[in-house]
Amino acid sequence: MKNLLQHYINGKWVNSNGGNTMDVINPSTENKIATITLGSSKDVDVAVSAARAAFKSWSETNLNERISLLEKLLEIYKSRSDEMAKFISDEMGAPIDLAKSAQVGAGAGHLKNTIRSAKKFSFEKPLGDHSPGDMIFYEPVGVCALITPWNWPMNQVMLKVAPALATGCTIILKPSEISPLSSMLLAEMINDAGFAPGVFNLVNGDGAGVGTYLTKHTDVDMVSFTGSTRAGIAINKSAADTIKRVSLELGGKGANIIFADADEKAVARGVRHCFNNSGQSCNAPTRMLVENSIYQKTIETVRKVAEQTEVGPSDKEGRHIGPVVSENQFKKIQSLIKTGLEEGAKLISGGEGRPDGLDKGYFVRPTIFSDVTPNMTIWKEEIFGPVLCITPFSNEEEAVKLANDTPYGLTNYVQTSDNEKARRVAKQLRSGMVEMNSKFLGAGSPFGGMKQSGNGREGGTWGLEEFLEVKAVSDWNQLSA
Ligand code: NAD
Repeated sequence: MKNLLQHYINGKWVNSNGGNTMDVINPSTENKIATITLGSSKDVDVAVSAARAAFKSWSETNLNERISLLEKLLEIYKSRSDEMAKFISDEMGAPIDLAKSAQVGAGAGHLKNTIRSAKKFSFEKPLGDHSPGDMIFYEPVGVCALITPWNWPMNQVMLKVAPALATGCTIILKPSEISPLSSMLLAEMINDAGFAPGVFNLVNGDGAGVGTYLTKHTDVDMVSFTGSTRAGIAINKSAADTIKRVSLELGGKGANIIFADADEKAVARGVRHCFNNSGQSCNAPTRMLVENSIYQKTIETVRKVAEQTEVGPSDKEGRHIGPVVSENQFKKIQSLIKTGLEEGAKLISGGEGRPDGLDKGYFVRPTIFSDVTPNMTIWKEEIFGPVLCITPFSNEEEAVKLANDTPYGLTNYVQTSDNEKARRVAKQLRSGMVEMNSKFLGAGSPFGGMKQSGNGREGGTWGLEEFLEVKAVSDWNQLSA
């Protein structure tokens, strides 16, 4: 890509009008790999005007036309998947094999599932037999600002871009300033797929600048945001004056409830799942709740798994974990590990500092604390690094109480061979998703949270509905005439 200092607006790469530059850093090396421009309010105004101007004709296109453009985009995305993996790996530190498989694969998967869901979606339907003249229409919300984080860049971006385009909305994407390169590559692909100018726009920027300006903009109809609960609160407030629709996908502090009758690999799987992507997943199972009778045995297992977890640079092939994304995140995680020790949690593995042999790069030691209690900071706060907290419980009721003892409610996990118990527990968990016995939720399943994990649902039919207004029209068939 040649245009790293530019934004993509109205079908062209354009220079910023007054923005400042920012370096993109490779977290494995701490070296600068690119410089981008943090856009100005003028850049946002131009992008919003382009999206507004494109909205009428794009929203009136036939669904088949939008689907064939998305299918073209999917082809291009697949054909450039190695480039995409390299950008993701370099900008946010995912080991290259993880970037190629899960990180890039998630983007392709969401695009494919959105196409499938859109083909089946009824954009108009009668209200019902009791009122035969009434029709219900699902219409695009309008101009949408999509604001995304750095931890699963194409996963998050595609969960928004694909349904927004499929429903006929126009877009201003503001990817994370920490991981902008993958989104800039996606903009190139969208351009090559042949979407009309103004339908998709990308303005780089940070939260305080472009992010805030977009969320309060009078000509933006919707903000779809994925990121921290802190920013979600700020966005809700900033969007309030214009009553725009705000969809929020926020943080998590998932519990993984391991009953004594769970299968014997459940503990090791739980540790690996927590450490995956260096612990930087909103739905990571970061609190392992373990039934008393298997607690001591579990501690030995988790120690072994943590000690076997290799840490290394993102350009190395293999199943190791990479660095965390930035110096800020590194420092935050170190400080939370220190707080865990000070507040009396028992260190089972890892701890402060870098792993042996890694003196440069934001590498964190895979860390496990046991005997973590609900009054401790590491129980309450999202750490967003390879740090697992373990706590014992004595019965089902206590397990549910502990799992729900968090302001978050994104994903919880249940491990037991007793199906009745699993169902009872799943129903009582206050989270948008529950995964049982490490069975992933299927393609097109709704992804989103309760409580302070947000109010949005992405993926499949639910992801389309996020970007649609519902309109009711009476006497559509002139039955009263
Ligand atoms: P972040 O909130 O700092 O930033 C996310 C995005 O929002 C970035 O593009 C940033 O520039 C922008 N932003 C920040 N403050 C803003 C503001 N006041 N107004 C407008 N935009 C603003 O989050 P992050 O550090 O990039 O990502 C990690 C967080 O994302 C974690 O809390 C994680 O749990 C969450 N996350 C949630 C999901 C989910 O689906 N629920 C998925 C992935 C990540």
